Amino acid sequence: MHKMPAIFIGHGSPMNAIENNTYTRSWQKMAASIPRPQAILSVSAHWYTHGSYVLNSDHPRTIHDMYGFPKELYDVQYPAKGDPELSEKVIDLLEGIGTLDDRWGYDHGTWSVLRKMYPDADIPVIQLSVDRTVRMEEHYEIGKSLRPLRDEGILILGSGNVTHNLRLANFRMQGGYPWCEAFDGYVKKNILEGQYERVVHYQEAGESAMKAVPISDHYAPLLYVLGSLGAHEQVEVHNDKCIMGALSMTSYLFRG
Ligand code: ZN
Repeated sequence: MHKMPAIFIGHGSPMNAIENNTYTRSWQKMAASIPRPQAILSVSAHWYTHGSYVLNSDHPRTIHDMYGFPKELYDVQYPAKGDPELSEKVIDLLEGIGTLDDRWGYDHGTWSVLRKMYPDADIPVIQLSVDRTVRMEEHYEIGKSLRPLRDEGILILGSGNVTHNLRLANFRMQGGYPWCEAFDGYVKKNILEGQYERVVHYQEAGESAMKAVPISDHYAPLLYVLGSLGAHEQVEVHNDKCIMGALSMTSYLFRG
């Protein structure tokens, strides 16, 4: 079996789950361009925990963890099956730092994206949480421990945003503020050059980094994806755009 690609999606607004726009169409295209996964391991910004948890349930529930949106969004269900065997395998790969969890479900970081990529929900999905207590290096190291899964047809999906600062967002603005564009460009340049350590040490981007990554939740999923990569993987950039001043939609597809 060939190595399964790995994907980071800039998910943006939860409304993307029910809209049909340029971003969601490119998520569909990305999914259509890769082999069908055996299962999906999603690392979502919206499961932000003390410690690393692995979703372990036969039929995870759909969690509507967002506020103030239209009813239509709260009606969305993503009825994919879990994969307890895969959850156990991830626990083994995490070598003592992971805990099985059967209380969480699919949060909107996962289902808003997968509903577009795999609308039939016929591929098993599990989630790995983002540990809010660790440094960026450790997210990257955890990503490395997930590498073997890609040889078994498992799609590692990171769902977050390279820049994400809702406090500074301007919902009427089309593009990004200069700091948003600068930071998104810093990350893109280093990914294209295979300089993943510079993406981990994102503070090297300078002043823009402070505004782009106020907390680790939306940035860290990218580091799990980068950690899962081998040397010289081919990279494609999709949805290369900043919106609402402070949000990057930029997404990456890596082909091993
Ligand atoms: Zn989000």
